[in-house]
Amino acid sequence: MISRVLPYVATRFQSKGVLDVASLGFRIAGFQAGAVALSNIARKSYAGSVNNPALKAIQIETLAFCNYKCSFCPTNQIEMPKGRMTDRLFESLIDQLREFEGEIRLYLRNEPLLDKRIFDFAKTADEQTKGKVVIQTNGSLLTYEAAQKLAPHAKIVVNDYTDGEVGSRIEEFAKEFDIVIANRGSDKGLSNRAGNLPSAKPKKLDAFCNRPFNQLYIAYNGQAALCCQDWTLEEIMGDASVSTLEEIWTGSTIVNKRKELLERKRTGLCAKCDYPGV
Ligand code: SF4
Repeated sequence: MISRVLPYVATRFQSKGVLDVASLGFRIAGFQAGAVALSNIARKSYAGSVNNPALKAIQIETLAFCNYKCSFCPTNQIEMPKGRMTDRLFESLIDQLREFEGEIRLYLRNEPLLDKRIFDFAKTADEQTKGKVVIQTNGSLLTYEAAQKLAPHAKIVVNDYTDGEVGSRIEEFAKEFDIVIANRGSDKGLSNRAGNLPSAKPKKLDAFCNRPFNQLYIAYNGQAALCCQDWTLEEIMGDASVSTLEEIWTGSTIVNKRKELLERKRTGLCAKCDYPGV
């Protein structure tokens, strides 16, 4: 067990930093107030960067489908916009990210390995940008051959929601390809998914949230979602099929949202969300 926890924590630390890991620890322990306190610490560091903060990661949803129906995830539990990103849009996004040095995460509300193009997309993103490509998958479709094609171009993290079934199947070749396996359990939920989960009530927190300050989320149709909790694409920050990523990132919609969050005002989707903010 420990042998799987440590690589996952190390990967998360590298990707999201110490406050995120500490907040996760508090949430697992059921100490929400501790996580909110960390969020308020983080808030101060973003105060001077409302208009154009440093983008650390972009999530790109190439195909909005999943083959699982998990109790803690709205996908396949609620109606949500679904479709396939065009090759042209994907190429346009990568073209704009040529100098980007952060993480390019090829997933959002979906299972990325359902998209047969994911191998070519990971290769393109790896070779044509300075970013680090990351794929988080439920592992159900991860074979030795798939890992062999993906691993040279992407960090692969398998979230095992099957109480070890997937993890045991891929364990041997996971070592060969430096794949991180996280035992997520079959019924683990640490947030109410901003009110999008039928089994969890909307909840309002008077807290900051760092997500619109460091991450951009592009759905299959080019719409830039507020964050990874926006399953129904309810709050759209812009449209990457008609605007550049820079225009979206510095546009008035997302800037106004950041101003609200800095003041610990949660409106719209955020008013239903119990994510503590880091
Ligand atoms: S408060 Fe919740 S809904 Fe709002 S940006 Fe943060 S994670 Fe998303």
